[in-house]
Amino acid sequence: MREIRTCPVTGTTVVLNDGWPERPLPAVEATSCWACGDRGPVIATRGEARAVPHPVPALGVEGTAAPVPGLAVKRDAVGAHELILGPHGGGQADVLRLAAERMVDLRRDSRLRGFALAQAVTPAGHDGWQLFAFPFDLPPSAPARWRDAELAQGARVVQLGESVVALAAWAPRAAFETWILPRQGAAHFVASNVHEESSALLHDVCSRLSRQLGGPAIDVTLEDGEPWRLVLRPRLQQPSLLPALGYPIVGVFPEFAARALRA
Ligand SMILES: [Zn+2]
Repeated sequence: MREIRTCPVTGTTVVLNDGWPERPLPAVEATSCWACGDRGPVIATRGEARAVPHPVPALGVEGTAAPVPGLAVKRDAVGAHELILGPHGGGQADVLRLAAERMVDLRRDSRLRGFALAQAVTPAGHDGWQLFAFPFDLPPSAPARWRDAELAQGARVVQLGESVVALAAWAPRAAFETWILPRQGAAHFVASNVHEESSALLHDVCSRLSRQLGGPAIDVTLEDGEPWRLVLRPRLQQPSLLPALGYPIVGVFPEFAARALRA
């Protein structure tokens, strides 16, 4: 079965082909855990979660936010790059809340405008997000209407929480791409009141993905918007040039992925 789908939220076009092979990338086993050690200055804490400076920051406080005039765009790498660490092996109830608090605090610097949050989840790995603050706005997404249609239709619902839901993406950019978002409303990330429940659902869905796929690393990113959402993408091999051209070929239909993850 083959189909071309375009995502109504991201605009991404993907080719679905269930004859396509999907294989997990080999897991990398860490021998020691950097994040478990004493990591110097702590910026903020909440419960078991702590925010620390990134040891090799991609962005720093020095410089100005304005682009340097010229044909091509360049600017000082003004911004912030922090790690939001929870306990080793997951259980990250306070982590998203702390990340939101850090964004509110960083936003007091009027140069900092766009915020990104990302982590690679690995089985038995340390729970740790990288928080970036950029000197420009990031385009928000607006999945609320789509979410409401998905909830009414139901075929791609993976797990329903009290206030949050996990959905298999309609036009997945990677096999088993899953979105976690509030079930109601359109709150941005910092204004949300479902951080703790979202953290718990993220943990559950990562466990489901791990059981189904044999434990590949899962890239998790925050897309802010109306409402915000977490995007989970397992790292699977895609032996084709088309992804490099911007058109992912995905071998698992999301309706199948949702059924498999619900089981
Ligand atoms: Zn650790």
